[in-house]
Amino acid sequence: MTAARKKEFYQALMEKNADYEGTFFVGVKTTGVFCRPTCSARKPKLENCEFFKTAQEALLASYRPCKRCRPLSFPNHASELVQRLIDAVEENPEKRWKARDFQELSVDESTARRQFKKRFGMTFVAYARARRMGLAMKKIREGEPVIEAQLSTGYESGSGFRDAFSRIMGAAPSKIGDSNVLKAAWLDTQLGPMIAIADEQALYLLEFVDRRGLEREVERLRQKTKRAIIPGSAKPIRFIESELKRYFEGTLKEFKTPLKLLGTPLQIETWKELVKIPPGETRSYSKIAKAVGRPTACRAIAQANGANQLAIIIPCHRVINTNGDLGGYGGGLMRKKWLIEHEKVTQRL
Ligand SMILES: [Zn+2]
Repeated sequence: MTAARKKEFYQALMEKNADYEGTFFVGVKTTGVFCRPTCSARKPKLENCEFFKTAQEALLASYRPCKRCRPLSFPNHASELVQRLIDAVEENPEKRWKARDFQELSVDESTARRQFKKRFGMTFVAYARARRMGLAMKKIREGEPVIEAQLSTGYESGSGFRDAFSRIMGAAPSKIGDSNVLKAAWLDTQLGPMIAIADEQALYLLEFVDRRGLEREVERLRQKTKRAIIPGSAKPIRFIESELKRYFEGTLKEFKTPLKLLGTPLQIETWKELVKIPPGETRSYSKIAKAVGRPTACRAIAQANGANQLAIIIPCHRVINTNGDLGGYGGGLMRKKWLIEHEKVTQRL
């Protein structure tokens, strides 16, 4: 977000300008809550404000909804049911919701899904996930200094470290050795925040933080590598950060960040094939299947494509349906479309 835009939003916030309702949300660093533009609470200083285009982004950045302006109830007040569910999440924000949890609250799961979707453009499960991930991401966003300090005082004593973060990123090791940990960092990009996970040699994962199934991906990564993940930075992370910047500017020819590919032989072969698709072009699943010598394995190829953990770098967004439809994308179809268009335009430069 540009400084000018930030100023404009801040002005709107000061004036409680209702014209801006729904166009942005403001996260207040000092209180950890996020509000709508017209909130009646005391207004924060500009340097304590973070602006978001969607409520989901604010949640992923670890903010919780303000009780006064109820930013999740725009344009009407949230129904009693929706409010009850939001409260339930706040009581236990680390929880992963299952069908029986809804029963316990005497809430019908499909009604909850429908009402949430209608009001906030996301399902209740997506809301709970965003809030949960946001808490974990908070540590990652705070980055090295805070965490290193916690590490040096020892994990055992710092129980705060074991909360949401370790639920998702794994139990922190009892002894800190750089060889048995992976570092995770938060990267802001034009298409929304991403998480990068690496050791000093290679990048293991690059994903949009709101991606469906990210928690499971992280879990798989932990199981495969048998390593804990802690917030921090590493050489490949700094490298990919600068490459991504150039990618979005349209000046990057090729990603050179060293990658660690963890997958089945077919998955790895598929990913290597994806890298051969030139930017600005797309291929069908069936064409990729042929290229890896498995012409009838379209479904397996589509799965390998979906199992890619290095978004943008391994360009699974360049694979579309044979009939020209976009097909699926873990990071959301809007992004897939954007990436394809962006690459078409920048190839012409
Ligand atoms: Zn508020």
